[in-house]
Amino acid sequence: MAARTVLLTGSNRGIGLELVKQLLGSPRPPAWIFATCRDPEGPRAQELRELANKHPNLVLVKLDVSNPSAITEAAKIVEVKLNGLGLNLLINNAGIYTPTASLDTVDAEDMVRTYKTNAVGPMLMAQAFLPLLKKAAQESKAKGLSCSKAAIINISTVMGSIKKTTDSFSPPVISYRCSKAALNMLTMCQALTYGEAGILCVALHPGWVKTDMGTQQADLTVDTSVRGLLSVLPILSEKHSGTLLNWEGKAIPW
Ligand code: NDP
Repeated sequence: MAARTVLLTGSNRGIGLELVKQLLGSPRPPAWIFATCRDPEGPRAQELRELANKHPNLVLVKLDVSNPSAITEAAKIVEVKLNGLGLNLLINNAGIYTPTASLDTVDAEDMVRTYKTNAVGPMLMAQAFLPLLKKAAQESKAKGLSCSKAAIINISTVMGSIKKTTDSFSPPVISYRCSKAALNMLTMCQALTYGEAGILCVALHPGWVKTDMGTQQADLTVDTSVRGLLSVLPILSEKHSGTLLNWEGKAIPW
């Protein structure tokens, strides 16, 4: 993967942390990886801090995606660090999930909290980092759209696919499904809007993955899922912008 500058949200554990590890270990690691998380100084970011001590290209940035002013603050810090370079790849990975939210139990507070993190967060992230993404697109001589030029990757889920709901309805997880369906719609709107500026916008489903969210019953190890996601990124082009694909690069209907 030839993206020189990458930023991820929710990178202190689960899929986000594994993305950081595998990007650092890749044959051509990015020049800068901005690993953002809610509490870089806290106990849940210890592994990330240890990685940052070993890898000078890994920069930890404090960022809560449900806090709009934290997003604009983080964008300023990243811009200074990039020192005139653009941002090639924004991975909106942070997400929350309420396992017990059925139609009987879900409430307004859970719906709004989940929407704010899973859909509003990625929207504000793209708005705040748009100038840096545009800069990367303008600096690139490559034709068409690609992750090495400028891209927004929204980590979504098959559970946000309306077409696939009948197959995946257990568990119902209403707040999560609705927020990710909104994220899928956002991805299409971003593709239609940001495509003109040379920015690829794709939603990716990582599979059912053994993380705190996916639980240990899940199908895939985090290593397999992330290996898959990172092998899909380099094949993405304009024909994929505004689509939902899984970790193997297979299309999922909206
Ligand atoms: P985890 O629960 O293991 O990790 C979630 C990450 O998101 C943590 O780093 C957490 O940080 C972070 N996060 C949550 N809320 C915020 C916030 N407001 N601001 C910043 N960071 C936040 O989940 P996974 O790694 O499994 O999931 C990653 C993504 O993949 C999510 O978007 C999820 O919906 C998606 N996904 C996962 C699947 C699975 O089976 N695991 C299946 C399909 C999609 P903190 O430590 O501070 O809480």
